[in-house]
Amino acid sequence: MNPNLDRRHLLHALSRRAAGLALFGLFGSGCASDAEPLRTAGRYPFSLGVASGMPRPDGVVLWTRLAPQPQQPDGGLPAQALSLRWEVAEDEAFARVLRRGEATARPEHAHTVHAAVDGLPAGRRVFYRFIAGDAVSPVGRTRTAPAPDEDNARLRLALMSCQHYEQGAYVAHREVAAADIELVLFVGDYIYESSNPRYRIRPHEGPAPQTLDQYRARYATYKADPDLQACHAAHPWVVTWDDHEVENDYAGGAARGSPSGLDADAFLRRRIAAYRAYFEHLPVSPRMAPVGAAMRLYEHYGWGRLADLWTLDNRQYRDLQACPDARGAGGHGVVDCAALADPSRTLLGADQERWIAAELAASRRRWKLIAQATQISSCGIATRAGRRVSTDAWDGYPAARERLMDAIAGPRVENALCLGGDVHRNVAASLRVRPDDPRSALIASEFVCTSVTSHGGSPDAVKNMLASNPDLLHARTGESGYAAVDITRDGARCDFRTALFPVHADARLTTQASVFVEAGRAGVRPV
Ligand code: FE
Ligand code: CA
Repeated sequence: MNPNLDRRHLLHALSRRAAGLALFGLFGSGCASDAEPLRTAGRYPFSLGVASGMPRPDGVVLWTRLAPQPQQPDGGLPAQALSLRWEVAEDEAFARVLRRGEATARPEHAHTVHAAVDGLPAGRRVFYRFIAGDAVSPVGRTRTAPAPDEDNARLRLALMSCQHYEQGAYVAHREVAAADIELVLFVGDYIYESSNPRYRIRPHEGPAPQTLDQYRARYATYKADPDLQACHAAHPWVVTWDDHEVENDYAGGAARGSPSGLDADAFLRRRIAAYRAYFEHLPVSPRMAPVGAAMRLYEHYGWGRLADLWTLDNRQYRDLQACPDARGAGGHGVVDCAALADPSRTLLGADQERWIAAELAASRRRWKLIAQATQISSCGIATRAGRRVSTDAWDGYPAARERLMDAIAGPRVENALCLGGDVHRNVAASLRVRPDDPRSALIASEFVCTSVTSHGGSPDAVKNMLASNPDLLHARTGESGYAAVDITRDGARCDFRTALFPVHADARLTTQASVFVEAGRAGVRPV
């Protein structure tokens, strides 16, 4: 499937945004005390748009942030709670309102709002907006999940990751905003803390964030992008994170110190700030608000009788990378590292490992979609010295990977499909308990999306990777975009939609490759 591109949708989204702006100042219905700070600010408070996420059969989470001046630490607002209203309707004109309610934007959460709306009909497309003082937000469109027992036929999702703001334009978001799909699945690197002047085509607002104010400013930079706003306003998002939301290559609490050289205490302070800013700016449930340095992000979603979807957290609970180099932290390539095989090492943490194993064993839906940040299939490369693997990848936690694969193979879970990102290349792979070992049965399949914008590795290395791993059907770097995944009872198709790196604002995506998994038969094959 090429995503159903409909320019009218895009134009609608843009005109709705313009309409939201035009309405600012015309409404006099806000409660006076709350309207006053917004009026004093004198600018449109919904500068970072709206979003929705975590679709359930009876509801969805609606998000916005009041920020007349989003690059200022206080967003341009006084340190007081502000109330606002939300509405969910069947139609874009809000003639048939289904639900309405009030929410509070608190200064301790940067005046962000996470409204958990329930009581909605299952399997329905709905529209939503916020009203604060005199200002009306852009209209967002979202949908609820199908009822658990509905014999639904299809789930189309955009698999996305790695949107380094400096390294390209969000053409992928522009295309996905106009596509006829059910949800966006974003698997990490929503922001980048770091910068590389070599690939910069537009700048971050400042140096690498360390404090809460700085992380908030980083989110403001990303979320001010009109294509990203349009993509949030067009579909519900299901999210998990990877490393760059905090710091490149971090592992758990970074007990040996962090890859950027922070000691363990300073790193934990940074993680607390980063997790908090992540929670504030993503459309996740208010019950996910972090407590100190802890934020439970892994989650289950059901999509009628067609699919279970789990999002995993690859970073918060993992052990440190094995065989550290001179820097002492982070990932790197190793040839000889006996510590890799230590069965006590974990990538997901013991609790999350037990949870996903129990969920997989109990699943009765047709497809089992396991979404996590990175590539599960091996990306090791044969060298003259031996096989070289990255200690930060699943290859660096081989026993943990085998346990995850056993959680599929043991209970004979059919139609397990892993969805990942992070590696800045498209990958389609077949999965076994022991990668690339023909004596180990095929048990699952994997689609990995390239970056939305971020720079990838060397094309020669990826060619070598393909040659070194017979389980990889497709692997290509040097192009950015997303993966359009179309799941029906009969199969799962993936179209890798890309443009050459770096993606400029006038680029068009084309289909780099298409792959297919047939229901009842593990493994990927070309279309
Ligand atoms: Fe990335
Ligand atoms: Ca990453």
